[in-house]
Amino acid sequence: MTTPLQDRIIRHIKTSGPLPLAEYMHWCMADPKDGYYANQEAIGSKGDFITAPEISQLFGEMIGIWAVEKWQALGSPKSFNLVELGPGKGTLMQDLLRISDAVPDFLQSAHIYMIETSERLVEIQKQTLSAYQNISWQKSIKELPVQPTLIIANEFLDVLPVRQYVKAGAEWREHAVAVDSEDNLVWTLGTGILEKESLPEQSDEEPNGAILEISTIREAFIANTAEQLNKNSGSALFIDYGHTQTGFGDTVQALRAHEYASVLESPGFADLTSHVDFGALAKIAETSGMKVSPIITQGEFLLEKGMLERAGQLGRNQSSEVQESITRQAERLALPEEMGNLFKVLEFGTSENKD
Ligand code: SAH
Repeated sequence: MTTPLQDRIIRHIKTSGPLPLAEYMHWCMADPKDGYYANQEAIGSKGDFITAPEISQLFGEMIGIWAVEKWQALGSPKSFNLVELGPGKGTLMQDLLRISDAVPDFLQSAHIYMIETSERLVEIQKQTLSAYQNISWQKSIKELPVQPTLIIANEFLDVLPVRQYVKAGAEWREHAVAVDSEDNLVWTLGTGILEKESLPEQSDEEPNGAILEISTIREAFIANTAEQLNKNSGSALFIDYGHTQTGFGDTVQALRAHEYASVLESPGFADLTSHVDFGALAKIAETSGMKVSPIITQGEFLLEKGMLERAGQLGRNQSSEVQESITRQAERLALPEEMGNLFKVLEFGTSENKD
Protein backbone atom coordinates (compact mmCIF):
# COMPACT_ATOMS: atom_id res chain seq x y z
CA MET A 1 0.00 0.00 0.00
CA THR A 2 1.38 3.44 -0.81
CA THR A 3 0.80 6.30 1.61
CA PRO A 4 -0.12 9.85 0.46
CA LEU A 5 3.33 11.01 1.54
CA GLN A 6 5.03 8.21 -0.40
CA ASP A 7 3.49 9.49 -3.65
CA ARG A 8 4.70 13.01 -2.93
CA ILE A 9 8.20 11.81 -1.99
CA ILE A 10 8.48 9.68 -5.15
CA ARG A 11 7.46 12.65 -7.33
CA HIS A 12 9.98 14.86 -5.55
CA ILE A 13 12.84 12.36 -5.98
CA LYS A 14 12.01 11.92 -9.67
CA THR A 15 12.35 15.65 -10.29
CA SER A 16 15.05 16.61 -7.79
CA GLY A 17 17.15 13.47 -7.19
CA PRO A 18 17.79 11.38 -4.04
CA LEU A 19 16.53 12.73 -0.74
CA PRO A 20 19.03 12.69 2.16
CA LEU A 21 17.79 10.53 5.06
CA ALA A 22 17.49 13.53 7.41
CA GLU A 23 15.17 15.29 4.96
CA TYR A 24 13.19 12.10 4.42
CA MET A 25 12.78 11.77 8.23
CA HIS A 26 11.76 15.39 8.58
CA TRP A 27 9.17 14.99 5.88
CA CYS A 28 7.81 11.74 7.38
CA MET A 29 7.53 13.11 10.91
CA ALA A 30 6.78 16.80 10.52
CA ASP A 31 4.90 17.35 7.26
CA PRO A 32 1.88 19.41 8.37
CA LYS A 33 -0.50 17.54 6.07
CA ASP A 34 0.70 13.96 5.71
CA GLY A 35 3.37 13.71 8.44
CA TYR A 36 3.31 11.29 11.34
CA TYR A 37 2.64 13.67 14.25
CA ALA A 38 -0.05 15.52 12.30
CA ASN A 39 -2.16 12.40 11.83
CA GLN A 40 -1.21 9.34 13.84
CA GLU A 41 -2.27 8.23 17.30
CA ALA A 42 1.42 7.94 18.19
CA ILE A 43 1.66 7.38 21.90
CA GLY A 44 -0.09 4.80 24.11
CA SER A 45 -1.48 1.28 23.86
CA LYS A 46 -3.55 2.17 20.77
CA GLY A 47 -0.62 4.03 19.18
CA ASP A 48 2.77 2.93 17.93
CA PHE A 49 4.89 3.25 21.05
CA ILE A 50 4.62 3.84 24.77
CA THR A 51 6.72 6.35 26.67
CA ALA A 52 7.77 6.46 30.32
CA PRO A 53 5.15 9.00 31.47
CA GLU A 54 2.44 6.79 29.93
CA ILE A 55 3.75 3.76 31.85
CA SER A 56 3.53 5.31 35.30
CA GLN A 57 2.88 8.58 37.13
CA LEU A 58 6.10 7.83 39.05
CA PHE A 59 8.14 9.08 36.09
CA GLY A 60 6.69 12.60 35.94
CA GLU A 61 6.67 12.82 39.71
CA MET A 62 10.42 12.13 39.90
CA ILE A 63 11.00 14.86 37.31
CA GLY A 64 8.83 17.04 39.55
CA ILE A 65 11.26 16.37 42.40
CA TRP A 66 14.17 17.31 40.12
CA ALA A 67 12.37 20.54 39.13
CA VAL A 68 11.67 21.57 42.73
CA GLU A 69 15.29 20.88 43.71
CA LYS A 70 16.54 23.04 40.84
CA TRP A 71 14.03 25.79 41.60
CA GLN A 72 15.17 25.83 45.22
CA ALA A 73 18.83 25.88 44.10
CA LEU A 74 17.97 29.03 42.13
CA GLY A 75 16.69 30.60 45.36
CA SER A 76 12.98 29.68 44.90
CA PRO A 77 12.30 32.60 42.53
CA LYS A 78 8.76 34.02 42.73
CA SER A 79 8.48 33.82 38.96
CA PHE A 80 10.19 31.32 36.64
CA ASN A 81 9.72 29.53 33.31
CA LEU A 82 8.94 25.83 33.39
CA VAL A 83 9.40 24.61 29.83
CA GLU A 84 8.72 21.22 28.29
CA LEU A 85 9.87 20.32 24.78
CA GLY A 86 7.70 17.83 22.85
CA PRO A 87 5.18 17.13 25.63
CA GLY A 88 3.18 14.37 23.84
CA LYS A 89 -0.12 13.93 25.66
CA GLY A 90 0.84 16.28 28.51
CA THR A 91 0.99 13.42 31.02
CA LEU A 92 4.51 14.15 32.26
CA MET A 93 3.62 17.78 33.07
CA GLN A 94 0.40 16.70 34.78
CA ASP A 95 2.31 14.26 37.02
CA LEU A 96 5.13 16.76 37.61
CA LEU A 97 2.67 19.40 38.81
CA ARG A 98 1.32 17.01 41.46
CA ILE A 99 4.43 18.06 43.41
CA SER A 100 2.63 21.34 44.09
CA ASP A 101 0.43 19.50 46.61
CA ALA A 102 3.57 19.42 48.76
CA VAL A 103 5.21 22.64 47.50
CA PRO A 104 2.41 25.08 46.55
CA ASP A 105 4.81 28.02 45.99
CA PHE A 106 6.45 26.11 43.15
CA LEU A 107 3.21 26.02 41.14
CA GLN A 108 2.30 29.60 42.04
CA SER A 109 5.66 30.82 40.72
CA ALA A 110 5.68 28.72 37.53
CA HIS A 111 4.93 30.06 34.07
CA ILE A 112 4.55 26.90 32.05
CA TYR A 113 5.55 26.79 28.39
CA MET A 114 4.68 23.76 26.28
CA ILE A 115 6.79 23.67 23.11
CA GLU A 116 4.87 21.60 20.58
CA THR A 117 4.62 21.60 16.79
CA SER A 118 1.68 19.18 16.39
CA GLU A 119 -1.71 20.97 16.55
CA ARG A 120 -3.38 17.66 17.28
CA LEU A 121 -1.19 17.05 20.34
CA VAL A 122 -1.62 20.66 21.53
CA GLU A 123 -5.37 19.98 21.79
CA ILE A 124 -4.77 16.79 23.78
CA GLN A 125 -2.29 18.60 26.08
CA LYS A 126 -4.87 21.35 26.70
CA GLN A 127 -7.40 18.75 27.81
CA THR A 128 -4.91 16.94 30.06
CA LEU A 129 -3.88 20.18 31.75
CA SER A 130 -7.27 21.93 31.86
CA ALA A 131 -7.10 22.19 35.67
CA TYR A 132 -4.07 24.52 35.47
CA GLN A 133 -3.71 28.19 34.58
CA ASN A 134 -0.58 29.96 33.49
CA ILE A 135 0.23 27.59 30.64
CA SER A 136 1.11 28.81 27.14
CA TRP A 137 1.81 26.89 23.97
CA GLN A 138 4.60 27.85 21.56
CA LYS A 139 6.27 26.27 18.59
CA SER A 140 9.82 27.14 19.68
CA ILE A 141 11.78 28.11 22.81
CA LYS A 142 13.25 31.21 21.21
CA GLU A 143 10.89 33.63 22.99
CA LEU A 144 10.73 33.14 26.73
CA PRO A 145 10.42 35.90 29.35
CA VAL A 146 13.83 36.71 30.82
CA GLN A 147 13.66 35.00 34.23
CA PRO A 148 15.03 31.77 35.78
CA THR A 149 14.20 28.82 33.55
CA LEU A 150 13.89 25.06 33.88
CA ILE A 151 13.67 23.03 30.68
CA ILE A 152 12.66 19.36 30.48
CA ALA A 153 12.29 16.95 27.57
CA ASN A 154 11.52 13.23 27.47
CA GLU A 155 11.80 11.23 24.25
CA PHE A 156 11.99 14.46 22.30
CA LEU A 157 15.51 14.36 20.86
CA ASP A 158 15.06 10.89 19.33
CA VAL A 159 12.32 12.12 16.99
CA LEU A 160 14.54 14.82 15.48
CA PRO A 161 16.14 13.84 12.16
CA VAL A 162 19.63 12.46 11.89
CA ARG A 163 22.10 12.40 8.99
CA GLN A 164 23.84 9.14 8.17
CA TYR A 165 27.21 8.96 6.43
CA VAL A 166 28.35 5.69 4.87
CA LYS A 167 32.02 4.85 4.44
CA ALA A 168 32.73 4.37 0.73
CA GLY A 169 36.48 4.05 0.17
CA ALA A 170 38.24 7.22 1.26
CA GLU A 171 34.98 9.16 1.60
CA TRP A 172 32.00 9.16 3.94
CA ARG A 173 28.94 9.78 1.77
CA GLU A 174 25.49 10.78 2.87
CA HIS A 175 22.83 8.05 3.04
CA ALA A 176 19.86 9.01 0.89
CA VAL A 177 16.59 7.66 -0.46
CA ALA A 178 16.03 6.99 -4.18
CA VAL A 179 13.29 5.37 -6.30
CA ASP A 180 13.83 2.12 -8.26
CA SER A 181 12.28 1.19 -11.63
CA GLU A 182 9.18 -0.20 -9.88
CA ASP A 183 8.59 2.94 -7.85
CA ASN A 184 9.89 1.47 -4.58
CA LEU A 185 11.86 3.66 -2.20
CA VAL A 186 15.41 2.30 -1.93
CA TRP A 187 18.68 3.33 -0.24
CA THR A 188 21.42 5.04 -2.19
CA LEU A 189 24.50 7.16 -1.54
CA GLY A 190 23.81 10.85 -2.00
CA THR A 191 26.15 13.61 -3.10
CA GLY A 192 26.84 15.00 0.40
CA ILE A 193 30.28 14.18 1.81
CA LEU A 194 31.32 14.48 5.45
CA GLU A 195 34.26 16.80 6.04
CA LYS A 196 37.37 15.11 7.51
CA GLU A 197 37.22 17.39 10.61
CA SER A 198 33.80 16.00 11.57
CA LEU A 199 34.99 12.38 11.63
CA PRO A 200 35.82 10.69 14.95
CA GLU A 201 39.41 9.48 15.37
CA GLN A 202 38.79 5.77 14.79
CA SER A 203 37.00 6.33 11.45
CA ASP A 204 39.97 5.12 9.35
CA GLU A 205 39.73 1.69 10.94
CA GLU A 206 36.05 1.26 10.04
CA PRO A 207 35.18 -1.08 7.12
CA ASN A 208 33.43 0.06 3.95
CA GLY A 209 29.69 0.38 4.58
CA ALA A 210 30.19 1.55 8.20
CA ILE A 211 27.66 4.18 9.22
CA LEU A 212 28.16 7.35 11.27
CA GLU A 213 25.13 9.31 12.50
CA ILE A 214 25.19 13.06 13.09
CA SER A 215 22.18 15.11 14.13
CA THR A 216 22.84 18.79 13.58
CA ILE A 217 19.24 19.60 14.52
CA ARG A 218 19.61 17.95 17.95
CA GLU A 219 22.84 19.86 18.44
CA ALA A 220 20.98 23.05 17.52
CA PHE A 221 18.27 22.31 20.11
CA ILE A 222 20.91 21.81 22.81
CA ALA A 223 22.70 25.01 21.76
CA ASN A 224 19.38 26.92 21.84
CA THR A 225 18.57 25.51 25.26
CA ALA A 226 22.00 26.55 26.53
CA GLU A 227 21.48 30.02 25.04
CA GLN A 228 18.20 30.39 26.93
CA LEU A 229 19.80 29.28 30.17
CA ASN A 230 22.79 31.58 29.70
CA LYS A 231 20.36 34.46 29.27
CA ASN A 232 18.04 33.49 32.09
CA SER A 233 19.96 31.14 34.47
CA GLY A 234 18.59 27.71 35.23
CA SER A 235 18.82 24.02 34.32
CA ALA A 236 17.80 21.54 31.65
CA LEU A 237 17.05 17.82 31.76
CA PHE A 238 16.96 15.64 28.63
CA ILE A 239 15.93 11.98 28.90
CA ASP A 240 16.05 9.65 25.93
CA TYR A 241 17.44 6.38 24.69
CA GLY A 242 20.93 6.48 23.38
CA HIS A 243 24.62 6.15 24.13
CA THR A 244 27.07 8.16 26.18
CA GLN A 245 29.86 8.09 23.57
CA THR A 246 29.85 8.70 19.84
CA GLY A 247 30.04 5.40 17.96
CA PHE A 248 29.40 3.84 14.55
CA GLY A 249 26.27 1.97 13.46
CA ASP A 250 22.77 2.38 12.07
CA THR A 251 20.25 3.14 14.84
CA VAL A 252 17.43 4.61 12.74
CA GLN A 253 14.26 2.61 13.32
CA ALA A 254 10.59 2.61 12.37
CA LEU A 255 7.86 1.55 14.79
CA ARG A 256 4.28 0.89 13.85
CA ALA A 257 1.67 -0.58 16.24
CA HIS A 258 4.46 -1.53 18.70
CA GLU A 259 6.30 -3.56 15.98
CA TYR A 260 9.49 -2.69 14.13
CA ALA A 261 8.87 -1.81 10.46
CA SER A 262 11.09 -0.88 7.54
CA VAL A 263 12.23 2.75 7.52
CA LEU A 264 11.31 3.16 3.84
CA GLU A 265 7.90 1.50 4.10
CA SER A 266 4.75 3.56 4.70
CA PRO A 267 6.30 7.04 5.16
CA GLY A 268 4.12 9.19 7.42
CA PHE A 269 2.45 6.16 8.99
CA ALA A 270 5.37 4.84 11.10
CA ASP A 271 7.31 6.54 13.87
CA LEU A 272 10.93 7.13 12.80
CA THR A 273 13.53 7.66 15.52
CA SER A 274 17.18 7.05 16.25
CA HIS A 275 19.42 6.70 19.28
CA VAL A 276 20.69 9.93 20.79
CA ASP A 277 24.45 10.54 20.90
CA PHE A 278 24.54 12.06 24.39
CA GLY A 279 28.33 12.31 24.33
CA ALA A 280 28.18 14.67 21.33
CA LEU A 281 25.37 16.71 22.92
CA ALA A 282 27.15 17.02 26.27
CA LYS A 283 30.13 18.54 24.39
CA ILE A 284 27.85 21.08 22.70
CA ALA A 285 26.36 22.05 26.08
CA GLU A 286 29.85 22.42 27.53
CA THR A 287 31.14 24.57 24.69
CA SER A 288 28.01 26.69 25.12
CA GLY A 289 29.19 27.50 28.63
CA MET A 290 27.02 25.06 30.57
CA LYS A 291 27.99 23.11 33.65
CA VAL A 292 27.23 19.54 32.53
CA SER A 293 26.57 16.76 35.05
CA PRO A 294 27.91 13.26 34.32
CA ILE A 295 25.46 11.39 32.07
CA ILE A 296 23.59 8.79 34.14
CA THR A 297 21.02 6.13 33.31
CA GLN A 298 17.28 6.57 33.75
CA GLY A 299 17.35 3.81 36.38
CA GLU A 300 20.00 5.66 38.43
CA PHE A 301 18.11 8.95 38.09
CA LEU A 302 14.76 7.53 39.22
CA LEU A 303 16.20 5.66 42.19
CA GLU A 304 18.19 8.70 43.25
CA LYS A 305 15.03 10.82 43.19
CA GLY A 306 13.24 8.33 45.48
CA MET A 307 11.02 6.37 43.09
CA LEU A 308 10.95 3.24 45.27
CA GLU A 309 9.79 5.16 48.35
CA ARG A 310 7.09 6.88 46.29
CA ALA A 311 5.99 3.54 44.79
CA GLY A 312 5.66 2.13 48.31
CA GLN A 313 3.60 5.13 49.34
CA LEU A 314 1.28 4.79 46.33
CA GLY A 315 0.73 1.10 47.09
CA ARG A 316 -0.05 1.57 50.78
CA ASN A 317 -3.53 0.27 51.76
CA GLN A 318 -4.13 -0.88 48.18
CA SER A 319 -5.09 -4.37 46.99
CA SER A 320 -2.28 -6.78 46.14
CA GLU A 321 -3.20 -6.43 42.41
CA VAL A 322 -2.68 -2.67 42.55
CA GLN A 323 0.56 -3.07 44.48
CA GLU A 324 1.84 -5.60 41.95
CA SER A 325 0.95 -3.34 39.08
CA ILE A 326 2.82 -0.40 40.67
CA THR A 327 5.86 -2.64 41.25
CA ARG A 328 5.72 -3.85 37.64
CA GLN A 329 5.57 -0.26 36.32
CA ALA A 330 8.50 0.80 38.50
CA GLU A 331 10.48 -2.18 37.22
CA ARG A 332 9.75 -1.31 33.60
CA LEU A 333 11.07 2.20 34.15
CA ALA A 334 14.18 1.36 36.15
CA LEU A 335 15.41 -2.22 35.68
CA PRO A 336 18.63 -2.34 33.63
CA GLU A 337 17.23 -4.93 31.20
CA GLU A 338 14.08 -2.85 30.61
CA MET A 339 14.23 0.94 30.18
CA GLY A 340 16.65 1.54 33.05
CA ASN A 341 19.96 1.29 31.15
CA LEU A 342 19.11 2.14 27.56
CA PHE A 343 17.61 5.49 28.58
CA LYS A 344 20.08 8.15 29.65
CA VAL A 345 19.78 11.46 31.47
CA LEU A 346 21.66 14.56 30.35
CA GLU A 347 21.52 17.46 32.79
CA PHE A 348 23.16 20.84 32.48
CA GLY A 349 22.73 24.37 33.70
CA THR A 350 24.25 27.67 34.61
CA SER A 351 26.94 27.41 37.24
CA GLU A 352 25.23 29.51 39.92
CA ASN A 353 23.04 26.44 40.57
CA LYS A 354 24.15 25.13 43.96
CA ASP A 355 23.93 21.29 43.88
N1 SAH B 1 7.49 13.69 25.80
C1 SAH B 1 6.33 12.88 25.43
C2 SAH B 1 6.17 12.70 23.92
C3 SAH B 1 7.30 12.13 23.12
S1 SAH B 1 6.92 12.03 21.40
C4 SAH B 1 6.34 11.58 26.17
O1 SAH B 1 7.34 11.27 26.81
O2 SAH B 1 5.34 10.87 26.12
C5 SAH B 1 7.70 13.47 20.73
C6 SAH B 1 6.97 14.77 20.94
O3 SAH B 1 7.74 15.82 20.33
C7 SAH B 1 5.59 14.89 20.32
O4 SAH B 1 4.80 15.65 21.19
C8 SAH B 1 5.87 15.65 19.01
O5 SAH B 1 4.76 16.25 18.45
C9 SAH B 1 6.91 16.64 19.50
N2 SAH B 1 7.78 17.27 18.49
C10 SAH B 1 8.39 16.68 17.44
N3 SAH B 1 9.19 17.57 16.80
C11 SAH B 1 9.10 18.73 17.46
C12 SAH B 1 9.70 20.03 17.32
N4 SAH B 1 10.56 20.30 16.35
N5 SAH B 1 9.38 20.99 18.22
C13 SAH B 1 8.52 20.74 19.24
N6 SAH B 1 7.92 19.53 19.42
C14 SAH B 1 8.19 18.55 18.56
